[in-house]
Amino acid sequence: MPSRLAIAMFIDACGWDVVSARPWWLKQLEHRQSARSVFGFSSACIPAILTGRSPSSNDHWSSFRYSPSTSPFSALRVLDLLPPSVADRGRVRRWVSKAIASAYGFTGYFQIYNVPFSALPLFDYAEKKDLFRPGGINAGTSLIDELVERKIPYHCSNWRKSERANLASLGEAVEEGTSRFAFLYTAGLDALMHEHSRNSDHVDARLHWYESQLQGVLDAARRKYDDVQVAVFSDHGMATVTRVVDLMPRVERLGLRFGKDYAAIFDSTMVRFWFLSPRAEELIRNALVDGKDGNWVREEKLKAYGTYWPDHRFGDAIYALEPGVLLSPSHMGRSPMAGMHGYRPEDPDSDSALLASFVPETPVSEIRDYYGLMIEMATWAQAG
Ligand SMILES: [Zn+2]
Repeated sequence: MPSRLAIAMFIDACGWDVVSARPWWLKQLEHRQSARSVFGFSSACIPAILTGRSPSSNDHWSSFRYSPSTSPFSALRVLDLLPPSVADRGRVRRWVSKAIASAYGFTGYFQIYNVPFSALPLFDYAEKKDLFRPGGINAGTSLIDELVERKIPYHCSNWRKSERANLASLGEAVEEGTSRFAFLYTAGLDALMHEHSRNSDHVDARLHWYESQLQGVLDAARRKYDDVQVAVFSDHGMATVTRVVDLMPRVERLGLRFGKDYAAIFDSTMVRFWFLSPRAEELIRNALVDGKDGNWVREEKLKAYGTYWPDHRFGDAIYALEPGVLLSPSHMGRSPMAGMHGYRPEDPDSDSALLASFVPETPVSEIRDYYGLMIEMATWAQAG
């Protein structure tokens, strides 16, 4: 009986600017195009890809939302007494993240990053569940739920594991030969480009490695199956950092009280504010102006991006930095980086890349169309 396998390979941050500059890469995949990303980070892009829906529809955008009454972090107030030399240490923060995740049974990608221990009790965390498991989406269903519903046998990487481990487990699934759809998750390129930017030789080396690994998987799959389809895509691109700004002092010097007058999350490319007093709003809006560093994102824009919630759960106002301008220090990290993403989706650096071994019937113009594309692939494989 003929059998088919469809493989979707996700490469974090492998944007159109990375791929279009390297036409030699995976050139056997002849369908090559860009797709517009989502305003936000991977925490917004991956759910959009897995659901085919915008952040406001699947209720996944940034990691932290202002919600003191539901915050899982209230016990952390005591840790604020730790000297900064201990409290700011990455190892301590990773350990605390793990301890909270296990205490609450969170299975999602859970990180307290660099948010001060004193501020954490004001916030709740959006990604508590594993996105790649059935029922992993905050609102509505995902590709994974659909595969289960349609009884399509599938293999999905474990994002907690290394790329090598995920490639090895895909290899095992191929040898077993029962899966019809496979989702391969890789995130190493993202880390590499944060450190070295997208133009580095390290990026070429990693892309060569992905190519040879994927070729190995495809060779094995073609021995086992009659027909194999593959699509390679990313969630967003990577902009080169041209300037670093520190916005925290500009807000701190206003003399407002964090948690009383306002709350804020300083992401690496945007600041999200909750105004707890009218005076705070006025002062903060005057302190951060539209200009060469960034702009206040208008409500109509947020609606167009699919990142508007009537209850402002992810912020009363968002100040977005210009592409290439990096906020550092931020609540995401303390050291500046060579590459960053999470800028407005109109910026060409934000575009995702799609490379496929076939011409998709699903029209793809933005990353949430990858959902329909993967459904198309799984349907094709199941029919074979
Ligand atoms: Zn990244």
